[in-house]
Amino acid sequence: MSDEKQQLEAIRDSFEKEFDRFSDALKDGFRGMKLSAAEKLAKELGEFRVKHTGKKSPISGAMKLIGRVAPEQRADFGKTVQSVRARIEGRIAETEDSLKSYIRSAKTKREAVDVTLPGRRVRSGHLHPMTLLRHKIEDIFVSMGYAIEDDREIETDHYNFDALNIPVGHPARESKDTFYTTGGFALRSQTSTVQIRAMERRGAPIKIIAPGRVFRRDTPDQTHTPVFHQIEGLCVDTDITMAHLKGTVSEWLRRMYGEETKTRFRPGYFPFTEPSAEFDFSCFKCSGTGEFEEAKCGTCRGSGWIELGGCGMVHPNVLEGCGIDHKVYSGFAFGFGLERMAALMYSLDDIRLMFENDVRFLRQFY
Ligand SMILES: [Zn+2]
Repeated sequence: MSDEKQQLEAIRDSFEKEFDRFSDALKDGFRGMKLSAAEKLAKELGEFRVKHTGKKSPISGAMKLIGRVAPEQRADFGKTVQSVRARIEGRIAETEDSLKSYIRSAKTKREAVDVTLPGRRVRSGHLHPMTLLRHKIEDIFVSMGYAIEDDREIETDHYNFDALNIPVGHPARESKDTFYTTGGFALRSQTSTVQIRAMERRGAPIKIIAPGRVFRRDTPDQTHTPVFHQIEGLCVDTDITMAHLKGTVSEWLRRMYGEETKTRFRPGYFPFTEPSAEFDFSCFKCSGTGEFEEAKCGTCRGSGWIELGGCGMVHPNVLEGCGIDHKVYSGFAFGFGLERMAALMYSLDDIRLMFENDVRFLRQFY
């Protein structure tokens, strides 16, 4: 056998030997191979192809020898070179095709959608817990014949203080408590301003509630924020008495917290009402007993009562200031903070949660 033929056999043998590492996997159709392993193998196969069929491969070298072989052996040698080359290229191509199709089907399997699985829940937005609470309260008062009134948040001194019978020099007017803007305006420190404007506009009789944001210069902590929400109610008509006030507040709290809820009034003082009272209601957690699960109730701190807001009969000065004759009409007003109610209802120990807009917190109210 000529040297050239021996060389060719050596090329073929060395190819077959190296190809062994692919042939076992190929025989099984790569069954059970992980996608990542198959992709790695495909990369190795690419390098293997370059090594055995590229310009610098032994078989390409053998091709160049054809011209140098003696003329009578050239055709025979050429044929053998071609057949070895075809064998090498065929084996590699077959493996590549099979591996590619295996990778394709493995990917399809991985990305396949199982239509029998439950769908992913799409989270939609929802109302803020403060809004939900406000709506609940509004619904109760609307059903009792109250209209919902809204107005501006930046007010003059007149509406924020004078019209509410808060005299110059009263501590509430101090700039350490109130946000003053340039030009003598202030961010309203209570929603009573809405009542004044409504009485001026509509006169008596009138029955409104005014929910809204109010502003005070408080340093934020667990129970204070510089902006918070109030709801105030106002009822002015002929022959309105303290009994109507007590009946209205009691009925509202019963509808909020259940039929058994009791209400109590304690004497209080507000410049815009006379007489004035602060109102409490029996604790919804311990039903007014002060004890919950054999311990002191945390919601009412063991007292059985929860302090909620202020109220009273509208001061004659306030009625007169709005052009309503206090000898013909009388009225009551009440007000309370929404954050405090929300903190009690949802057992929050920090009302700042209501302002931080952390969805992990807000989602609980979905
Ligand atoms: Zn309690």
